[in-house]
Amino acid sequence: MEPALLTSDHPLSDAQGGDAPGRMIDTLIFKVASRCNMNCRYCYMYNLADTTWKLQPRFMSDEVFSTAIGRWRDHVRGRGAKHLHLVLHGGEPLLAGPDRLDRWMTLARRELDDLEVPLSIGIQTNGLLIGDESCEVFDRHGAAIGVSIDGVPGKGDLLRIDHAGRPTGSRVEARLRWLVSSRWRHTLGGILSVVNVECDPIETMEYVMSFGSSTCDFRLPLCNHDSPPSRPGWDTDGTSYGRWLARVFDHAIENDVPCRVRILDAVINAGVNRHAYQSLIGNSELSRACVIETDGSYEFTDNLKSAREGITKTGLSVARHTLDDYCRHAGAWSEQYGLGGMDSPARRCRDCPVWNQCGGFYYANRFRSANAFANESVFCSDLRYLFDHVRARIQGR
Ligand code: SF4
Repeated sequence: MEPALLTSDHPLSDAQGGDAPGRMIDTLIFKVASRCNMNCRYCYMYNLADTTWKLQPRFMSDEVFSTAIGRWRDHVRGRGAKHLHLVLHGGEPLLAGPDRLDRWMTLARRELDDLEVPLSIGIQTNGLLIGDESCEVFDRHGAAIGVSIDGVPGKGDLLRIDHAGRPTGSRVEARLRWLVSSRWRHTLGGILSVVNVECDPIETMEYVMSFGSSTCDFRLPLCNHDSPPSRPGWDTDGTSYGRWLARVFDHAIENDVPCRVRILDAVINAGVNRHAYQSLIGNSELSRACVIETDGSYEFTDNLKSAREGITKTGLSVARHTLDDYCRHAGAWSEQYGLGGMDSPARRCRDCPVWNQCGGFYYANRFRSANAFANESVFCSDLRYLFDHVRARIQGR
């Protein structure tokens, strides 16, 4: 039976949908593996609100991958795309093995070649399985590896554990040190770390930079109003995450560090140019990504799984639907619209002096089961602190 597309009690049912010929998916995120060799306590895929992964095939099939690429080619053709981004994601994508990844990247480059649009390929991994064989494949296809870590081993990785409950930081560090000392060093595209306010921000930043990556991405935890972030005892005004990022910002500009911090780039860009970008920022430009699950389902951004069971489901799949069908889906553009796309934007945001820059920030952090995403961010006080701090530093106050 065909699943319902978007019922009125779905948290994204307020979003603006409908026909929009200009809308285009330029980023396709392939969930090539639906299991992981880690078991991070905070993992939005496997350990938060959504359990639908249990019904997913462990790996994407060649047929699903090939069909999805064909759908993408048909969708993009003639739409004036400037760049396409293909992301191999999971679970842990390296569990799919280098042969499969090689096959899929070969197919993607071949099938999309006649569009004459540059195609970048990225793979987001926990790093444990990085090795010669996989790096040779990534190098051959010009793919960039993004590695997720949790700061300094023994300090930041206590929740980033394997299935036996052991912290994984030291093992990931060993693979990263190997990678950056090998002939595959250039395949490292960036490092992502979740902000842990119990760890020193400068030490964390220096640790990330010790791998020589030119970009790093500090993410706020995927908490929401139902599951608020834990805060240290000294944090009486709810600004510890904002202060943590502000210290990274100060350290970066005072020391002219040769590493771009994406979340701060986004804040600076939003604050200085009054022009937000990236899905981190609520008032961002088009969020043009679509997720393909291992069974071929089209899904919304995976981090929404932190909010509610089944929230990313669309009822659409590559076998029966086009990407144009996905673009007509009411929920597909909800993140793009930020709070402006909801019927009842949070009053606190509408009245907020940094609304034009912040836009409620990261979508997943706004969730509350009573009224879905029509809320300010659960990190609101942190964001006010961070935006004010960055603006004051840039204005020289
Ligand atoms: S700082 Fe808070 S109130 Fe202001 S726009 Fe951001 S989330 Fe909304």
